[in-house]
Amino acid sequence: MNHWNRDLDRLQRSGIRRFTNMAKEVPGCVMLTIGEPDFDTPEPICQAAAQALKEGHTHYAPNQGDPELLQAIADFESARGMACEPGQVLVTVGATGALYTALTGVLEPGDQVIVPSPAFSLYESIATAAGAETVRLDLSETGLQIDYAALAAAIGPRTRAIVLNSPCNPTGTVLSEESLAAVKEAVLGKPIWVICDNVYAGVCDGPCPDLTLDPQLRDQVLLCQSFSKPYAMTGWRLGYLIGPQALMDRLLLLHAAQVASVPTFVQKAGVAALRTDVSAMAAEYRRRRDWCMARLERMGLPFIRPQGAFYIFLDIRALPVSAEAFCTRAIREAGVALVPGTCFGAEGFVRLSYCCSPSALEVGMARLETFLFSL
Ligand code: PLP
Repeated sequence: MNHWNRDLDRLQRSGIRRFTNMAKEVPGCVMLTIGEPDFDTPEPICQAAAQALKEGHTHYAPNQGDPELLQAIADFESARGMACEPGQVLVTVGATGALYTALTGVLEPGDQVIVPSPAFSLYESIATAAGAETVRLDLSETGLQIDYAALAAAIGPRTRAIVLNSPCNPTGTVLSEESLAAVKEAVLGKPIWVICDNVYAGVCDGPCPDLTLDPQLRDQVLLCQSFSKPYAMTGWRLGYLIGPQALMDRLLLLHAAQVASVPTFVQKAGVAALRTDVSAMAAEYRRRRDWCMARLERMGLPFIRPQGAFYIFLDIRALPVSAEAFCTRAIREAGVALVPGTCFGAEGFVRLSYCCSPSALEVGMARLETFLFSL
């Protein structure tokens, strides 16, 4: 048998996983690669799941999601300013599931999706699997913000969506009001979806400018959200998607064909999560970020100042190595693992994740400094 969807041959392994696996082969290597909080899931959330299991919440959930969670999400988002009804919410397998359903639901083969870059590679993988084309909008020359003229030039007759990720993985940059105004001006009233990946909105200096809150774009905006990062629930695989009713009615059927529904007791834990105060974790990430930035300044290594997420994008353009070589050698010669910017579409940069434990961070930064001197 040699027949399969040829688009699958264009899919690439996640670079983050590739470098993490390389690091696992080096005993004692400090992992500053993956966006995996070192915190355990808060106790009330775990208790809610245990209680749900005891109460027999082990059967299929409705395709759309547990009604209690749908209501809790709609209340949570409406309180934040994205007015929505429970009927517009779809509970998904992480934000990955939300993005998969959103992108495969709106893109047809040959369509184009605009991805401001550097960017998380998942968007391009999903677009590829859908037979669509990713148009990278390079933000490196515009301070990582979106310029109206550049965006307008990237939009063509086949453009069907733009993905916005703010705060951004890998740069930690928050899109400014001006960037969002540029997006709005370029897409308003056109058949182009604005897909907002807001998974790091809870790990940020303050509320971020956000097109999901703009009433004029209500018929064009989709929100992809996750419990993974703010609640330290990466392994639970819980997220959600919100959008206009007519589209959500169709995406529900697609989601039903993809995963049927999300585990029932995990959804009960999601209800508890939305009631849990996780501001102390967010504050701790900020403390670690500030510590890292001060340490990098002492090392003399330039970087992009992040406003959110838990990554720092290190600028190695002045060094005599490529990003891939830098990361491979840092693992093998210094025992510290980072991810090359090429995995996000940016040569000359390296991503450092600081959501690991402070002690690992301290050792990792000391090793990074020693490695820099050796170059
Ligand atoms: N979007 C971004 C920008 C991410 O960094 C991640 C995970 O790292 C995801 C989406 C997927 O998150 P989830 O764990 O909810 O699938």
